[in-house]
Amino acid sequence: MAQGLGTAVAQRLAELRGCAFDLDGTIWEGPRLLPGATALVADLRTSGLRVVFASNSSRHASGVLRHRLAELGIVAGPEEMLAALDLAVGEVRRRLGPVRVLAIGTAELDEVLRACGHTIVPDADAPDAQAVVVGIDPDFSYDRLRAAARSVAAGAAFFAVNMDARYPVGPGEFDPGCGALAEAIAVAGGVRPIGIGKPEAPFFRVAIERLGCPPHRAAMVGDSTASDIQGGRAAGMFTIWIDPIPQGPPPGCVDLRVSDLEELHQLWRQARDESPRSADHAKTR
Ligand SMILES: [Mg+2]
Repeated sequence: MAQGLGTAVAQRLAELRGCAFDLDGTIWEGPRLLPGATALVADLRTSGLRVVFASNSSRHASGVLRHRLAELGIVAGPEEMLAALDLAVGEVRRRLGPVRVLAIGTAELDEVLRACGHTIVPDADAPDAQAVVVGIDPDFSYDRLRAAARSVAAGAAFFAVNMDARYPVGPGEFDPGCGALAEAIAVAGGVRPIGIGKPEAPFFRVAIERLGCPPHRAAMVGDSTASDIQGGRAAGMFTIWIDPIPQGPPPGCVDLRVSDLEELHQLWRQARDESPRSADHAKTR
């Protein structure tokens, strides 16, 4: 048994067949990869595990995140990158077809909406919108809030890329997140949004599909208990919480708490090497 781990936790670690990694605060922080990320991802892949990078980003599309990850030294295929922004746009199409959308967000959100067949409605034509999609919007203003709130109050479908209250921008620092903007629109418009990103179930369903294994053989690795860990637990995944400064016992939804990816790597290797059952899986996979 890996040192410090219970038998059941060590066994589940050893039998993992896929890992979904959050990006911000887990794989990277600001402009740099976090220690151990490259080695862990490489070792998981070499051992036959599938990997997915699962971001709640409402600012960037998956292609941009994939490019940034490659620049930092981790190359991922399109199917290995999952961004809430792309999922939200796809969900609008799946539910409503191609529609006229009032987009509260970045230019990337507009681009992905157009590429998916939707039409962008200018604020002045907000009453014509069939859907409102909200991401982080650096140009959010009282006028934009008015336009979006009136649209949803008049019956436009209301989607939020995620409901994160904050967006981390450095150690101890944050900007207001997509969820903060969505809540303002919800209060003024009197309508609750449909959240798409973590911790919502559809996000994890797609992540598990891409990992190609049963949920209990998949891990969700992340630094947010509210989005990564609670959502992963609800989806039946093994949950690994990155908690750099552990204080007190972890919440009940956490299966394993580590301080960083280097500690996770060491525990995973130890659990795998000491488990005869995982060796059998490796042979028959
Ligand atoms: Mg994070």
